Amino acid sequence: MNASDNNKINLLDFSLDKLTDFFQQRSEKPFRAKQVIKWLHQMNVDNFDAMSNLSKALRESLAADCIIKAPEIITDQASQDGTHKWLLRLDDGNCIETVFIPEGDRGTLCVSSQVGCALDCTFCSTARQGFSRNLTVAEIIGQLWIAKRTLQPDPKASRVITNVVMMGMGEPMLNFENVIDAMQLMLDDNAYGLSKRRVTLSTSGVVPAIDKLAERLNVALALSLHAPNDALRDKLVPLNKKYPIKEVLAACQRYLDNVDSVREKITIEYVLLAGVNDSDAHAHELADLLKNLPCKINLIPFNPFPKTQYQTSSNNRIHRFKDILVQRGCVTTRRKTRGEDIDAACGQLAGKFKDRSRRKIHFARIEQGEQQ
Ligand code: SAH
Repeated sequence: MNASDNNKINLLDFSLDKLTDFFQQRSEKPFRAKQVIKWLHQMNVDNFDAMSNLSKALRESLAADCIIKAPEIITDQASQDGTHKWLLRLDDGNCIETVFIPEGDRGTLCVSSQVGCALDCTFCSTARQGFSRNLTVAEIIGQLWIAKRTLQPDPKASRVITNVVMMGMGEPMLNFENVIDAMQLMLDDNAYGLSKRRVTLSTSGVVPAIDKLAERLNVALALSLHAPNDALRDKLVPLNKKYPIKEVLAACQRYLDNVDSVREKITIEYVLLAGVNDSDAHAHELADLLKNLPCKINLIPFNPFPKTQYQTSSNNRIHRFKDILVQRGCVTTRRKTRGEDIDAACGQLAGKFKDRSRRKIHFARIEQGEQQ
């Protein structure tokens, strides 16, 4: 990479639609965009010479103006349980993390959407680090691009990454347009071709963005609920003060009604914090709260991090909490904690970056209901 590359257009920044527009501007036929998207995301190439079905002239003109550039791999750690965690450096020196979790014939990639997070949930280590900026499309899809290249070097071999969850660092709904473009590539048959049931966006509950998502994309939706009432959720997920539980659950129901989602359910994520939200009464309150929403509850044992005020609930407590929900008719699973030995578990992703102290500004934008 030389200095002039900085001014080049990164082709990983384009969804198929946007690449088609770009090619049209260059007086190229739309099907060329499809060919290039396949080279980029199915064949995983990082140079134009490899694109053998393009004319030499087109390859040369693309090479003159464009680059194919994912974030740079700083470390790739593998856990004893097969989990991988990548530390990736972005052009501005910020670092983010991406995690791969294999389980049986499923392989899930946990993708970050922002450098840090502005939402300040009290039990999440990403939040403790502050917020720096939104990721570009290339930085979001680049995580999948890198993971696939590493885990499945032969692009024609059978799929290793079968699922993607937007559950890494950041609040995907607050980086809406870039997340949509990246997720379109995840779903696009010309790119990663993942099934819409296997691509999940997880949100703390940005209500207007949930409605907007339904108009744009059909993916699985997960809600980070973590509390059965507003008084408690206000403390754990400060965004609740802006969008209280009732409004968030109504938005989830609208999402199910609006996307073509026969038999689909919302996933409700609930981190169990000892003595905070894990009592029998909380379980009953949660069952009452969710009785009309088609959902499955995913209980997440709290993963501790340095200086946290919270503790993990005991195994007995988690079992009891789950039993109550199951007895009350709620579909409930317990998320296995994976990759703990490499700090790759939920809420442990921290990356390395400067808090630009934009959290307040960002919050002000949310308050005004502004989504980018
Ligand atoms: N901002 C989005 C995406 C992050 S997803 C959201 O809130 O949904 C990461 C998931 O892990 C969320 O459900 C989050 O609440 C949960 N989580 C955060 N910190 C955790 C921790 N320390 N232990 C277990 N789960 C945690």
